[in-house]
Amino acid sequence: ASEILLYCRAGFEADLAAEIAKKAAVLGANGYPIAAPGTGFIRYILADHQPAHTLQKQLSFETLVFPRQTLVAFPPLANMDREDRISPVMALIRESGWSFEHICQDIPDTNDGKALTGLGKSIQKALESASRKCGALRRKAGKRWLHLFWTAGDQVQVAISFPGNRSEYANGIRHLRFPHDAPSRSTLKLEEAWHTFIAPDQWDVLLDENMWAADLGAAPGGWTWQLVKRGMGVYAIDNGPMQASLMNTGQVEHLREDAYSWKPPHTLDWLVCDMVDQPARVARLMGTWLENGWTRRAIFNLKLPMKQRWQEVEHCLDLLHHCVEKAGFRAHIRCRHLYHDREEVTVYVAIV
Ligand code: SAM
Repeated sequence: ASEILLYCRAGFEADLAAEIAKKAAVLGANGYPIAAPGTGFIRYILADHQPAHTLQKQLSFETLVFPRQTLVAFPPLANMDREDRISPVMALIRESGWSFEHICQDIPDTNDGKALTGLGKSIQKALESASRKCGALRRKAGKRWLHLFWTAGDQVQVAISFPGNRSEYANGIRHLRFPHDAPSRSTLKLEEAWHTFIAPDQWDVLLDENMWAADLGAAPGGWTWQLVKRGMGVYAIDNGPMQASLMNTGQVEHLREDAYSWKPPHTLDWLVCDMVDQPARVARLMGTWLENGWTRRAIFNLKLPMKQRWQEVEHCLDLLHHCVEKAGFRAHIRCRHLYHDREEVTVYVAIV
């Protein structure tokens, strides 16, 4: 397999391609991306049929921003016989010599993709039994999974994912249920950010009821609602109104102040921020908070209405690294285009 297949939100293919091209080049890889707008995926092709396995591993999923999924892939199969889609897939699997523990039927997150949902399901059983018969599908196979990524009824790309370097969710999407009493749908962004950046066994330590947080640009309170649910006290900074029932919890102090000038009365455990503003301006504000030691952890969104989103993200992350280093701190910084994010990415910073 000499390519990497990556999924993303439709419309972000150019950003994902720019990110992967840059990071692959830094790693000394010789290859190029293929991306078509609106398709929800890109391919990164290695020159001279070099194996993609090593590069895919070096491009550690945790450090990537725009991909929802990352796979080592074989060239796409096209013009398949609609009466027999299994034979060409099986031929490819047998020839590859790979074995795996699970078969995933994937589709792009587009309207065209959704129309293909039934297709994978309809051949799943037959494919499993054929794969088992030839020893490709086994109970123990290094936790590798086989992915069939359908882009048309007669077109599929076969790929493999590796443990610790993939999304464990179908199509790389973590669906969350909207809590009916939350003030805004934005609430899901903070919840998904916690799921993404904080390991399950750390939730009780890092999202503790004795903690204090600030929410800059808090109204109507979707993010504050998540902090309150964890039992925290929250300074909600916004000129706009907060949801009444959230205020009735007694855990929220609503201050109608400017987020750029307000300073916390004591050191906080968390800073969160979802303001619509220039991303570099938000990144600098976050940097100031961390530099001054006003918080040890922050989660915030960078809004990206511009064309070259990857370049903007890179610039903001550089700014942030610079602030933290200048203050003599070491920090863990992660950034991800979450499923519940639209034209924005979410950043997590923890001083270590
Ligand atoms: N995270 C919120 C939620 O889940 O409900 C939604 C936040 S909304 C996208 C952005 C908010 O930022 C607006 O309510 C706006 O009033 C506030 N805002 C923008 N600039 C601000 C500033 N300089 N200081 C304080 N609040 C600001």
